[in-house]
Amino acid sequence: MIGISIEKFTKLFIKDNSGEKYEDVVKRLKETLKRKNEGACCQVCGQSIWAIGSAIGGFDGCFKCITGESDDSGDYEIY
Ligand SMILES: [Zn+2]
Repeated sequence: MIGISIEKFTKLFIKDNSGEKYEDVVKRLKETLKRKNEGACCQVCGQSIWAIGSAIGGFDGCFKCITGESDDSGDYEIY
């Protein structure tokens, strides 16, 4: 995964999702990242969660379970 700051990712995300508010997205990402760092697990397979996908997708999951893809090399993860 490509590491990205919450602020940078949110700016990119807002560009494609104009209905979302910057502050709301930052807040959701921060909360999810905190849960990840506290050991939150994918609800499907038990792996460490993908914070971006979990914040936006609405459930705690890892990259594979959220996207159905195995190659995460081109996707972002916040830190
Ligand atoms: Zn999973």
